[in-house]
Amino acid sequence: MNIIEKYSRSTYSSNLRDDDNHHQTEPLLAVALSDKSGIGSFLWRIKYANDASVYKPLLIKWTDIVERKSIKESWGKSIDFRQIARLSINYYIDDICKECNGTGKEKHLSNDQLLSDDDCKICNGTAKNKIPGFKNQIEYVARCIDVLKTKEREIGGRAIAKLARNFDL
Ligand SMILES: [Zn+2]
Repeated sequence: MNIIEKYSRSTYSSNLRDDDNHHQTEPLLAVALSDKSGIGSFLWRIKYANDASVYKPLLIKWTDIVERKSIKESWGKSIDFRQIARLSINYYIDDICKECNGTGKEKHLSNDQLLSDDDCKICNGTAKNKIPGFKNQIEYVARCIDVLKTKEREIGGRAIAKLARNFDL
């Protein structure tokens, strides 16, 4: 089981106090403790625990980070950092192609319960949505999505190290 699976599973445990036998909530704790930026555990909660209640605080913090990035990198007035923040976080949370439901395949012509061998025409078989935004925004949105994915990976990595160190895995 990788850290994402452990984390998702731990969010389903009914009691947030640790179970003596299974230590199910340890991955939650490890992720929370590994978060220095303040958005990492929100990212994990919204993406892998379906916790929509963190969307608003996450968007506020993320917009702050994107604003600082826009100043540092001199994005220019035509690029609205608020829009870039919103587009990138929404894509990060849900990037699955709706047309094929993340399968990457077209439905079978005669039976829509089955998948055909043809790639989905909307996502070209990637199963992912296109990066959202207007032409002049896409590059910025893509860079911000990369930042979010990197943050998620960093925190996952630190959480694994913490689990291994502290919790006798
Ligand atoms: Zn598709």
